[in-house]
Amino acid sequence: MTTRATARGQARTSLEGTSVDVLICGASFAGLAVARELAGSGADVLVVDRYEIGERPTSACAAPTPWLLAMGVSEAISQEIPHMRFTTPHGSVRYRLPWSWSSFDYRRLCELLYEQSDARFETAKVEGRLEEGCPARGESIAVRTDRGVIRAALVVDALGWRRVLGACGYQPPDAPLSRGLEVHPPVGREPTADLDVWLERSLVRRGYGWCVPAGGEARVGVGSYAPAQHVRESTVALAERLEMEPVRYQGNWFPHRLRAATEDGVFFAGDSAGHCFALSGEGIRTAFYFGIACGRELRAVIEERRSREDALRHYHRFSAGHRRAFAVALGLQHLVPALPPRLLTLGLRAIDRQWVLERAFGWYLNQAHPAFAESPLQLRGSLIGHSSG
Ligand SMILES: Cc1cc2nc3c(=O)[nH]c(=O)nc-3n(C[C@H](O)[C@H](O)[C@H](O)COP(=O)(O)OP(=O)(O)OC[C@H]3O[C@@H](n4cnc5c(N)ncnc54)[C@H](O)[C@@H]3O)c2cc1C
Repeated sequence: MTTRATARGQARTSLEGTSVDVLICGASFAGLAVARELAGSGADVLVVDRYEIGERPTSACAAPTPWLLAMGVSEAISQEIPHMRFTTPHGSVRYRLPWSWSSFDYRRLCELLYEQSDARFETAKVEGRLEEGCPARGESIAVRTDRGVIRAALVVDALGWRRVLGACGYQPPDAPLSRGLEVHPPVGREPTADLDVWLERSLVRRGYGWCVPAGGEARVGVGSYAPAQHVRESTVALAERLEMEPVRYQGNWFPHRLRAATEDGVFFAGDSAGHCFALSGEGIRTAFYFGIACGRELRAVIEERRSREDALRHYHRFSAGHRRAFAVALGLQHLVPALPPRLLTLGLRAIDRQWVLERAFGWYLNQAHPAFAESPLQLRGSLIGHSSG
């Protein structure tokens, strides 16, 4: 059970009437990537979340190592994972990847990201917008929270799949969302070295199981692309198969369809914009990537290089410019569970050649490449080039 650290009672003074330059709603991967990008801009930036920074892990916390290095958060890495192993009912295939994954400590990673920003932070539950519709040029946006209304000219929704500041929310199970549940048992003996993925219909009809090694613990879970299918039983079954205790549960929905990255004057980044790849359910790297892109646009407004309206347009186009990659992932998400298991196994074996692995995983990394995080000065102001590329 997670201990709740969020300030309560008298510590929660009213925020009514607060007015800032930038309001970032959500202090996880996307929100903190936006905040980090605004460091030194001179803007008054406020980040709000219903929990303290890093309090509630939202995933298995595995991301490509080059992204963690590029974000300056290597200190949060628990274990580097150079190999992936895919198992079907007909056998296993183990790949040495052209780049490695790393599991990390969520709290530490969030702290490190926040330290790189100069934003203020408050715990508050975001409830929605005060007024609907697009704000007039120069008008601020009012956001309702359980601590009062906060106003800002630039508002980011990085609140995850609920997209609280959007006009139309998603309601599972009737929404393009996948569901995931995992347990985090301690690993007493030698920790496993591979990122394991199970593609077995007896475990989950349309989805996959995983085990992510993370130093002293494993993150064992099952994800279903069919939101109506519950995954608790299969998560427990997988943990028991691995002779691990099903303890420390954590679950959530994750989107598998791209959504508009702006709406009525608000910027959306991460899961709120569907910035999570279908098939793999990988949404941390993309939350960083689009969070950075969003932050750069906000910075251009603060530095008076763009109007808010232009920044909204640029960011919207930048995000939509990636629709092909998201569509390919969604197509594969439909295809892979429909393949006969023997054919799937043969396909996985066919990939097991270094040049094929390099091509396939290279393409995948390129869809949100870590170089994007490393060169803000070169890239600043060149988002249009990226979106049309
Ligand atoms: C079980 C599981 C395992 C996963 N494993 C991986 C993985 O290993 N690697 C990977 O790349 N992806 C993984 N994903 C997907 C990944 O977790 C998401 O894509 C990623 O967390 C998206 O980041 P985000 O910042 O957009 O949103 P989130 O991480 O969901 O953060 C949203 C933030 O908003 C806050 N918030 C929400 N509503 C409110 C509100 N009303 N008021 C105030 N605050 C609010 C939350 O507290 C949270 O801090 C996994 C998903 C699941 C469900």
